[in-house]
Amino acid sequence: MHNHQNRKSAGETNFGGRAWLRALLAAGLALPLMFGPTLVASAPNRPGAQGHAAIGSAAVDDARQLAADREPGTWMSAGRTYDEQRYSPLTVIDKANVKQLGLAWYGDIDTERGQEATPVVVDGVLYVTSAWSMVKAFDARTGRKLWEYDPKVDRATGQIACCDVVNRGVAAWKGRIYLGALDGRLIALDGRTGKVDWSVQTTDPKQPYTITQVPRVVKGMVIIGNAGAEYTCRGYVSAYDAATGKLRWRFYTVPAAPGDPTNTPLLDKAARTWSGEFWKFGGGATAWDTILYDPKTDLIYFGTGNGLSWSREIRSPGGGDNLFVSSIIAVKAETGRYVWHFQEVPGDQWDYDNTNPMMTADLKIGGKPRHVLMQAPKTGFFYVWDAATGKLLSAARFAPANWASKIDLKTGRPVENPGARYTAAKAVIVYPAPLGAHNWHPMSFSPRTGLVYIPVTENSTGFAGVKPDGFKTNSRTYNTGTVSFSDEITRLYAQPGAPARGNIRSYLQAWNPVTGREAWRVPDKDYGASGTMVTASDIVFSGNWSGEFTALDARTGQRLWAGPTQATVVAAPSTYTIAGEQYVAILVGARGLPPGQARTSAVSANNSRILVFKLGGQAQLPSAAVKAAGATSHTLNPPLMSGTNEQVIDGQAIYGRYCSGCHGAGGVAEKTIPDLRYSTTLHSLADWNAIVLGGARADKGMVSFKSILADGEAEAILHYIVSQANKDKATEEAAAKTGR
Ligand code: CA
Repeated sequence: MHNHQNRKSAGETNFGGRAWLRALLAAGLALPLMFGPTLVASAPNRPGAQGHAAIGSAAVDDARQLAADREPGTWMSAGRTYDEQRYSPLTVIDKANVKQLGLAWYGDIDTERGQEATPVVVDGVLYVTSAWSMVKAFDARTGRKLWEYDPKVDRATGQIACCDVVNRGVAAWKGRIYLGALDGRLIALDGRTGKVDWSVQTTDPKQPYTITQVPRVVKGMVIIGNAGAEYTCRGYVSAYDAATGKLRWRFYTVPAAPGDPTNTPLLDKAARTWSGEFWKFGGGATAWDTILYDPKTDLIYFGTGNGLSWSREIRSPGGGDNLFVSSIIAVKAETGRYVWHFQEVPGDQWDYDNTNPMMTADLKIGGKPRHVLMQAPKTGFFYVWDAATGKLLSAARFAPANWASKIDLKTGRPVENPGARYTAAKAVIVYPAPLGAHNWHPMSFSPRTGLVYIPVTENSTGFAGVKPDGFKTNSRTYNTGTVSFSDEITRLYAQPGAPARGNIRSYLQAWNPVTGREAWRVPDKDYGASGTMVTASDIVFSGNWSGEFTALDARTGQRLWAGPTQATVVAAPSTYTIAGEQYVAILVGARGLPPGQARTSAVSANNSRILVFKLGGQAQLPSAAVKAAGATSHTLNPPLMSGTNEQVIDGQAIYGRYCSGCHGAGGVAEKTIPDLRYSTTLHSLADWNAIVLGGARADKGMVSFKSILADGEAEAILHYIVSQANKDKATEEAAAKTGR
């Protein structure tokens, strides 16, 4: 109803809209703010203009980003505000009218694989990135594509991208759009045309570094990290001048070899928590996802990933905490100078990266107002710190965990389960698994409800170390030094009390960070995490893996609305207004299609699209199924086993190290990357070798492994997959007989 009253012609500005005013008031903002000099001086007059300036201006600067709450209709950075709460003060869409949500427009995304970006919407343009680091700019009101940019990342980079060739979005600043490309480039584009303004290589291209994260702009600098801690990389975070691309500072997260010029006194001190010749493995601790700037403390926070290898027995045979792996590090924004750190997982050996989304907030704890930093990491414990000092305030368990019983609030250290550490001689089952109780998927926080909305996944994995003697790294492959499939691990899983293997269940959890308790949870029909956003109408928006985009009551979890996505959703939504109408945008497409969903996109096997909803939206997704050449069969039809037992066992180990990162543990694919058990290529060793050794599918990212595999190893992998496929086929047939 409000929607229609407030609908305005495209030529009118947003600032006159009553919806906007109401949103401001609902957000509890004082009226004088509205008439501050910034807004009055630059109120727009052009069609489609959203904020301060002409369409495509991308005119974000310090003052505008700091005052983002003054223009709630703009989503000017991936986390919207510097605190990255992903909370929108907009209330045009409310609990009473949310059922009228319909598709306003959609745009096809011409890649498949995982789509993980949050749309950024500023000055009338919606900017989104897709897999392979491509950027698209749409008119945010009509969906007309304004420009697109493809950095033409060499598809061989897919081999060194641990977890798909994804990208989580752009940053806008003073007319430019910043992109971290998979191959390590930081690229500044013209916001109106998509033309490259400047581009710098932030990594050594000879090393297996990748970038998938959102660049953050702080005080005229673009802050960017990288990934590669499963390969041979040493983590660091860099700050580049946003105007010129000149390097301003760099912070390495782990020490290099003694005497290396990049070793600061701090890193020399950190080196005492390592043993052996740890630098030979690379170090790891890459800051691959969240970088957060807090204007109140003037600190930049980033989390670091696992050490290299995962197995501590290999990388640091004498044990130790191995600083700064699996830690939060706070540095001064201007200089990158170290201020404090907090290591969540000392001596981590379970891939418990601490790179997961963080946010700052003002909470009342024990009756006292506190300015805090919060994170729900992979480990299953929800951390709340004093943002200025890093003092731990609480760390309550938000998901099942058997690696530690609790976090000691005095020392900040986990109280580890004595049975949680594996070696080459000892296998263990651990939960959460490396996918985590909560991974990169954005969570959101509502200052109105006081709740954090976390996509939680429960999972477990088996771990054993490989023998440290003779362990050698290869820069093009995983060097985790672990096995997750072995007869011993299978035996452990068969024991009474063992958890289910692999993915168990998932849910959207509303978490109270003050009490350390869950307020409510909504289980997912199909397992999988999807990012969240919350609005001042007390509505949580989130997709799921069943092909829906949903609106839930932020106070109770009650489902208010769901619309079809025709695709699996892992990314987080954003919301904005134009001419008084509120739009909700979500990028969809990842990990195959939802159960029962046909392919309807001619350009993407997983129906990747940007979907934008509004009240009364009338657009329709295509319904006709698109048949594509080369589609994989959905029936297990492997050849009979022809390999020897030794080949299958060898194949299992080789697959685990070189293939499972993309194609899935145990041969079960969880991504858009083909599930090899279903491949018709299993019937021909020649065809198999043409792909694995000959590089016949290099254009899709499946490069040749000829330089990595020894003679006979490609064939051993084939026999292992054939064996897995036959086992799974037998299980399916037995289940069909018993009617389960
Ligand atoms: Ca990792």
